[in-house]
Amino acid sequence: MWLPCRCALKSAAASFSRSGVFEPPCLNVVRRSSGNVAAFMPEAAGFLGVSGRDALQDFSVSDGDGFWAAVARQRLSWIRPFHRVQDCDLSRGRIKWFEGGQLNVSVNCLDRHVHTCPERVALIWERDEKGSEVRYTYRELLEMTCRVGNLLRRHGVKKGDCVTIYMPTCPLAVASMLACARIGAAHNVVFAGFSADALAERIRDAESSTVITVNQGLRGGKVTELKRTVDAAVQSCPSVRRVFVAMRTDNPVAMTARDIPMDEEMLKEDVVCEPAVMDSEDVLFLLYTSGSTGKPKGLVHTQAGYLLYAALTHRYVFNYHDGDVFGCVADIGWITGHSYAVYGPLANGGTTVLFESTPVYPDPGRYWDMVERLKVNQFYGAPTAIRLLIKYGDQWVKKYDRSTLKTLGSVGEPINTEAWEWYHRVVGEGRCPVVDTWWQTETGGICIAPKPSDPDAEIVPGMAMRPFFGIKPVLMDTEGKVQTSNNISGALCIAQPWPGMARTIHNHHQRFIDTYCQPYPGYFFTGDGAYRSEEGYYQITGRLDDVINVSGHRIGTAEIEDVVNQCPSVAESAVIGYSHNIKGQGVYAFVVLKKGVNVQEADLSKQLSNMVSEKIAKYACPDFIQFVKRLPKTRSGKIMRRVLRKVVECDLDGLGDLSTLDDPAAIQEIIQGHEKLL
Ligand code: ATP
Ligand code: MG
Repeated sequence: MWLPCRCALKSAAASFSRSGVFEPPCLNVVRRSSGNVAAFMPEAAGFLGVSGRDALQDFSVSDGDGFWAAVARQRLSWIRPFHRVQDCDLSRGRIKWFEGGQLNVSVNCLDRHVHTCPERVALIWERDEKGSEVRYTYRELLEMTCRVGNLLRRHGVKKGDCVTIYMPTCPLAVASMLACARIGAAHNVVFAGFSADALAERIRDAESSTVITVNQGLRGGKVTELKRTVDAAVQSCPSVRRVFVAMRTDNPVAMTARDIPMDEEMLKEDVVCEPAVMDSEDVLFLLYTSGSTGKPKGLVHTQAGYLLYAALTHRYVFNYHDGDVFGCVADIGWITGHSYAVYGPLANGGTTVLFESTPVYPDPGRYWDMVERLKVNQFYGAPTAIRLLIKYGDQWVKKYDRSTLKTLGSVGEPINTEAWEWYHRVVGEGRCPVVDTWWQTETGGICIAPKPSDPDAEIVPGMAMRPFFGIKPVLMDTEGKVQTSNNISGALCIAQPWPGMARTIHNHHQRFIDTYCQPYPGYFFTGDGAYRSEEGYYQITGRLDDVINVSGHRIGTAEIEDVVNQCPSVAESAVIGYSHNIKGQGVYAFVVLKKGVNVQEADLSKQLSNMVSEKIAKYACPDFIQFVKRLPKTRSGKIMRRVLRKVVECDLDGLGDLSTLDDPAAIQEIIQGHEKLL
């Protein structure tokens, strides 16, 4: 019989012995000599003449092939070594990394750690019910993954199929993702808060014949009928042949002929599952974007490049070390959950937290109670949650011991000055670096972050700062030319490919080319704007769609919001441009007040205008300020400014794709408030 540990030995031995003798021609620059960067990054030991971390960063860009080949050989376990580092042509949307290489992602995330440290904790499941966390070792997670892999295979799921996972953040969801990787199926995780229609659209687009779900979800103390949502969704998905149903709560649900009781059936399966041999460029997963700017895109990520990039960024951006507990609170339905709750930490043999709850359940101290209880070392969250927690006051943070914290991460939206400062001073007690990480579903992993190559580097508050290894950001001017000077803003593009980038939009390669490759041929276009300071540091100024042009002055909405949010009465705000017959565009601000604030709206409007006028300029002052209870957000917590624009333009038929909108009631309130204001 084939035991899990022997399976690990087998694949590791095959790859190590082969890679020991393997020297692809492109590796000529890599020599077996050590430089002083090796203490910081062991993979860099062979880079001749590269001394110092700045030099390492430069080398990773100037000789991307040499850099990525060495890192890929050392950080991943290969079944067969690759013979070509990359074959990319950004202008045509052709992106291929590590061709000829074969590996299995689940072996890289599990077996090789089971081989060296089977009892190390892989997952800490922070269940919705506070204080009831459950730990899973690498051995246990491998066994669970193998059982799911065997179950899927027994029911006919094959290499190349796509499995839709509609589950809350929990170990079985992670095992399901890894089981897909083990047998060579792609996964398509859909956030378990989406409606039946949104789920059905993603199942159809991904052409899934298999869905994995749970009977009911539990989040913030509320039960959601996930199985019922799947039942409704699959009505319009003729491709679906089987639905695996696991039990998250004790309540039975109605089962149909298509449904398979997952927990029961898994018990019948072997704990050993032979890993499929996958090519580097086989699909690992599809994932739909948040839909902040339009219809969500089903981005495709592949095996080796994605895993390598997730692992390397996780290690260096957060300064993660063996034995640390990594607390990424993103849901697994988003790319942040994929890369930093699952793949990055597990590829590195780390201990990762799976957060099932909300920041305010059962009270606003939830995150920090968890940090104390689980002894979290790196905490990674979103500005929207930070802004929410500021509203409730510092006492909810200070109640708990946060002395284990070493790094605080932020992702998803620009982090405004007030939130950055609070996160740093109150949560991190002024001693933890705040790393504002910029990236996208498309980039697979973090591309710009404060300290990717130097844990001692200085951080300017509110700036994403420095590119990660192998990333070459450029800023384009309005004519599409690369701007070479500093102290300048422009459209953020990336000048050369990197292993973690998405390969295509599922079934829509032309849309991929049109969106990312055509706007600036030869460059990857991010859709975001950025500013490069005198010192060469980057600050993300927001989405280019959100830039407003008032009387010829171009200004990012994030900049105005940042000032408005500094008012002690304001919890958060969203600023948009609307067409104005004299100025070209005018400024319209939506403002949410902090809990318990009781002020005259007219007085506060005047105060906010004065603040904007003082800190930016008179032209940036809002023409209208509408006070609202909440802002329309995607289910991943991002403000949907495109919807606000349509409300202000009174184009209610043109609201666009609302499938990712979190709370439709927010729009109704805003429409009514807008009508009153006019
Ligand atoms: P869609 O592409 O469907 O409109 P989306 O862009 O919100 O949705 P994601 O891939 O989840 O989907 O989000 C990536 C975007 O989030 C980035 O392009 C950027 O606009 C924003 N973002 C992420 N991190 C940061 C950050 N640290 N600072 C500023 N903006 C950020
Ligand atoms: Mg996007």
